[in-house]
Amino acid sequence: MPVVYKDGDANLEVLRDRTVAVIGYGNQGRAQALNLRDSGVSVIVGNIRDSYRDAIAEDGFAAAEIEDAVRQADIVMLLIPDEVQGAVYRDSIAPHLRSGKTLDFGSGYNIHFGYIIPPKDIDVVLLGPRTVGVEVRDAFVRGSGAPADVAVWQDASGAAWPTVLALAKGIGGTRIGALETTFAEETELDLFSEQAFWPVILDCMLTAYDVLISRGYSKDAVVMELFASGEPADIFRDMATHGMFDQMKNHSLTSRYGALSRRQGAAGENLRRRMETVLEQIRDGSFAREWAAENEAGCERFQGLVREAEAHPINAAHHHLRGRLASTTSAHK
Ligand code: NDP
Repeated sequence: MPVVYKDGDANLEVLRDRTVAVIGYGNQGRAQALNLRDSGVSVIVGNIRDSYRDAIAEDGFAAAEIEDAVRQADIVMLLIPDEVQGAVYRDSIAPHLRSGKTLDFGSGYNIHFGYIIPPKDIDVVLLGPRTVGVEVRDAFVRGSGAPADVAVWQDASGAAWPTVLALAKGIGGTRIGALETTFAEETELDLFSEQAFWPVILDCMLTAYDVLISRGYSKDAVVMELFASGEPADIFRDMATHGMFDQMKNHSLTSRYGALSRRQGAAGENLRRRMETVLEQIRDGSFAREWAAENEAGCERFQGLVREAEAHPINAAHHHLRGRLASTTSAHK
């Protein structure tokens, strides 16, 4: 059974006298850099010269070129998008890695699929928060934390585990629990939920939208019912806390009977076959090759898919309803 590490299993002293370079200041980079600094860790931020530089300075970090940050650091946290990591690693990181350094990833993607092959004399670890960066930061500030995955790919020093656990503690991950995994498992599960689970939720909502609109229900009422109220988010949150079916106790008996009596077989055999195919394409590397080719070709297909999604009438319906509702912020004032 994989270990769940808590605060007591990790020692921040491991990071004393070591400099951590956070490369990238986006979703995860900003959150992890701030949390580590608040945990007393010495952090520098390496970033290309762009608009993020302002945010870095405003947060009180000295921004360095990526190469300089890697040179100065004992631990390098690579927190830039997966699809650019290979090139940045080759050009700006690999030449400055020295024996004894640690290279940390937020996702196992590039190591698992072989786009990055680190030298044998460094530690290679994974610290992957299981939620978005904003929540990694907000939870930490609230005194809580975001659960995370932790893994070791290469333990050249013999101390890779204490290092990754200290990083997990520094970002607040061990306050809730850091789950031991592998680079392969983290990568494949992450891609699976992105490609096999969320598309079904999206397609399910769009199908529901089409059915209901075609039967004459108002767009406002449909969008409110499907997701704009925030109820699905509340249900998912309750699932995480209370369990998939226990959270149903918060709902009426009518709701529970309706859901349970119509649940079985709702997704159908087709869905299982589809999920198995998606998983196979992840595991045999064909998705990774397709995505690499798409990036090589300038992401034309991807942009088309984005445009197609943005043109769906549900977006206009949602904007219309949102315009008539108070924003969440003002509603709480
Ligand atoms: P972001 O897209 O938020 O990263 C943005 C940062 O990367 C910015 O500083 C950006 O600068 C920089 N960047 C982008 N392109 C380049 C480039 N070509 N060269 C150098 N820097 C570049 O990434 P995420 O935080 O979403 O993801 C980082 C890692 O964390 C990934 O491995 C991801 O899988 C993992 N992860 C992400 C989660 C999430 O919630 N998003 C959750 C858990 C793990 P600019 O854009 O200005 O060029």
